Amino acid sequence: DSLANQIAAGEVVQRPASAIKELLENSIDAGADEVTVIIKDAGKTMMQIMDNGKGMSETDARMSLERHATSKITKTEDLFSIRTMGFRGEALASIAAVSQMEIKTRQEGEELGTLIAVEASEIKKQEPVVCDKGTSICIKNLFYNVPARRNFLKSNGVEMKHIVEEFQRVALANPEVKFSLYQNDLETYSLPGGKLSQRIIGLFGKNYREQLASCSEEMAEVKIYGYIGKPEFARKTRGEQFFFVNNRFIKSNYLNHAVMNAFEGLLPDGSFPFYVLFIELDPVHVDINVHPTKTEIKFDDERTIYTLVRAAVKQALATHNI
Ligand code: ADP
Ligand code: MG
Repeated sequence: DSLANQIAAGEVVQRPASAIKELLENSIDAGADEVTVIIKDAGKTMMQIMDNGKGMSETDARMSLERHATSKITKTEDLFSIRTMGFRGEALASIAAVSQMEIKTRQEGEELGTLIAVEASEIKKQEPVVCDKGTSICIKNLFYNVPARRNFLKSNGVEMKHIVEEFQRVALANPEVKFSLYQNDLETYSLPGGKLSQRIIGLFGKNYREQLASCSEEMAEVKIYGYIGKPEFARKTRGEQFFFVNNRFIKSNYLNHAVMNAFEGLLPDGSFPFYVLFIELDPVHVDINVHPTKTEIKFDDERTIYTLVRAAVKQALATHNI
């Protein structure tokens, strides 16, 4: 069903950055604590992700390319308690439908790993291979067989910006994991595993060190934590504002408003505060299925979350005598 794969691919993979997002999330799901990303030509010619996670058996590796072949949901109830990132089992199959992909993977304790090469959903090669424990996935010539999509890609600058955005989100959500990012052979990010504050500094620069105020608020079953930037550190653009719900990056104008409300009267006109805020709550109270790319979310009780986010930010400002 390579046509079905190609259609599904359009939903999951819009550009190189969407592939990067899916692969990074898979590495995290696999329990990796070291992830390396290599990008050539903004992902248009090559993207490779290497992790030291649990790897796949030969059968798993083969299965991973089948649509809806997720190893992460085994019974229906699991749908309501999704803790892992991927859960639809579509990403690898979709990317493989529109690229030339090579998977190398080995599980701990296995002597040899598995290499699978696939082009436009067609398996070209499968053989045992000597490789490190973990998984390496290399994607070449994304959309080479879908010219309309390929032509639709933006400049390298724009595509790379989207990739860096996805990289930053995953890196923020997993500060204990070591990440590196190479762009055309140049290492542009080198992030040792550590605390969230160190991760923020590693990603955005040393000048953030003195500008962060920590947030922490807990009520009933909801927990908020993270950092805000001090008001005088606010930016002219919105770029550096991050919400994570159960470690998943989300966009929410509603919750952004809660932060802006807490900052009221403190920000220079037309400026936006830096923030990285994590919201933790029982997954039964959130619906993460509203959008295929999963950046939007629905809460059972939006207002409580709003109030709590605002309180957390106000509290952080007060604690720092702002
Ligand atoms: P999903 O993540 O939704 O399960 P994917 O298409 O992203 O679907 O991946 C399919 C399956 O391939 C996963 O369920 C997992 O078993 C396996 N897999 C993918 N990437 C990795 C990886 N980096 N390490 C280990 N297993 C992986
Ligand atoms: Mg996945």
